[in-house]
Amino acid sequence: MIVTSRWVILTHVSGFNDFALVCLALGQTQSRLQMAELAGEYLARLDPRDAEIAARFMVGRPLAQGDEKPLQISGRAIWKIVAAMTGGQDHEDQGEAIFAVATDFGEAIEMVLRLRQSEPEVTLTLAEVERCFGEIASIEGRNSRRRKLDALRELFERASALEGKYLTKILIGEMRHGMSEGLMLEAIARMASRPVAEVRRANMLAGDVGRAVRAMRTTAPASADATGAPASELDADAPAASLTTARADDAPAHPRPLKPMLAQPAQNVAEAFRMLGDRLALEHKLDGARVQIHCTGAGVHIFSRALNDVTASLPEVAEIAGRLGSRRAIFDGEVIAIGADGRPLAFQEVMRRFGRVRDIERLRVERPVRLFVFDLIGLDGELLIDAPYEERYTALSELASAAGLAMAARILPSTVAEGSQFYARAIAEGYEGIVAKALAGPYMPGARGRGWVKIKTARTFDLVIVAADWGYGRRHGWLSNYHLAARDERDGGLVEVGKTFKGLTDDDFRAMTERLLAIKTAEARGTVVVRPEVVVEVAYSDIQRSPRYAGGMALRFARIVGVRNDKSAAEADTIATVAAAFDRQMVKPLGADE
Ligand code: AMP
Repeated sequence: MIVTSRWVILTHVSGFNDFALVCLALGQTQSRLQMAELAGEYLARLDPRDAEIAARFMVGRPLAQGDEKPLQISGRAIWKIVAAMTGGQDHEDQGEAIFAVATDFGEAIEMVLRLRQSEPEVTLTLAEVERCFGEIASIEGRNSRRRKLDALRELFERASALEGKYLTKILIGEMRHGMSEGLMLEAIARMASRPVAEVRRANMLAGDVGRAVRAMRTTAPASADATGAPASELDADAPAASLTTARADDAPAHPRPLKPMLAQPAQNVAEAFRMLGDRLALEHKLDGARVQIHCTGAGVHIFSRALNDVTASLPEVAEIAGRLGSRRAIFDGEVIAIGADGRPLAFQEVMRRFGRVRDIERLRVERPVRLFVFDLIGLDGELLIDAPYEERYTALSELASAAGLAMAARILPSTVAEGSQFYARAIAEGYEGIVAKALAGPYMPGARGRGWVKIKTARTFDLVIVAADWGYGRRHGWLSNYHLAARDERDGGLVEVGKTFKGLTDDDFRAMTERLLAIKTAEARGTVVVRPEVVVEVAYSDIQRSPRYAGGMALRFARIVGVRNDKSAAEADTIATVAAAFDRQMVKPLGADE
């Protein structure tokens, strides 16, 4: 069947080739409105299952967020496979020439694929591509590397050059057609003729644009359960407000994590009062790793900030949460590592526990961790996200004291001065800072909204490594000088603000070199360009004006203080935050609130 949309001629809507054509058209469209229309119209033509897959692919995500095991396919692996397919010769030497004309890595792969004698017929479907990605992700154990590459080769052998371009873009997570997650939500709203707010909420709850598509296609408007359950399953008698506004999708067999709520930075307590109003709470900011704990009555599941299931790595946390008995609850909290003297250790220490599945019992003794809870997102099968923080907190306190769970210290300050004292004491006691929370604020999954505000003294930014230089002398053979970038919220791009080779140990350099080479997209004159995925916490002495950087600012004496494996590039600090810190340097601090 041939369907002519306003922009693209679709011959086989569930085919991967049609998906690639739609992406191509998106890349040629400047207007956000038109992009949302085009993608929405395309998604509407697909059956619900294919629409779910296409929505994910379109934002550069091979598999559903949350259940996703990493595919562990680097740009370099794709390049090698494709080069070997095109006549057996290695195109390494042609690489630079191709990269010089290609606008991105996907296009470079397309150009190499065009060197084949003939193009395969286009037969790949969206479902087949997804299945193949799933298989690659699940390959483990003996010879897993070779088996993964074999599966990848089979996929590319069936792909046309254009399809190869988009397979590559999805695999490396860089679509470069400007379809951000926010814009995708607008497209889904058009697909389903539903308000964007409803789609946004479905996405927050489901934690994945594909599942948001499914929810929009399988539930009735507005009254529906945004997590994807058919409307008929909803509790029609649920009170409309307060603690019971939505059903939690935490059925014992398969709890699904929600995106954690994020905090925006403020300079001091006075600014937090200005941002949130004066009905706020201040809590200690614990320097650990975020966890979301789902107690299902039948068991416990612990999810990391990146929504990975880390239950097996943290048995002591699982035990604590198990004290709730048959009660169902979803906690938000922080896990910190404890040193031999009982004092908290640096964030890096706790991260060493995450994702580890071997030697757990030994690690548990050597590097114990402690859980602090600070929010309650679900209780007895109901989601509490619409309830005000003060109500959630009351319910949390009751549960925590019944189950003996530790909570972050907090106060309800009535004046800025009182809040500033709490902050000063927190810093003196060795905390990273404090988090201010509006008492009336809802829980906003995934949103750096107006609800939470973090205040910390440390001069650090979370920045993305976008490239690295090969080292010389003692650092020969390592990628050791890292190019650091902040996010530009206006266009979703990244703006470099400095470079550093300081702060890492030799072991860290080795590991980082390996990691960056796996996500390399190009190399020229001793500099390796990488997919912007690795986030590092960077300390600096001050910020100076610099015409050498596009943002006009550079960090002085930058030093990496930690690798933030728990954060994605989308959570890095923004260039606006760097600019605000720069402006503050110019203004003498007023003192009282510092
Ligand atoms: P940042 O990582 O600098 O963006 O700060 C936000 C993080 O602080 C959250 O993601 C939590 O992991 C952590 N955090 C520590 N203590 C608290 C708290 N009391 N409330 C909320 N977040 C906290």
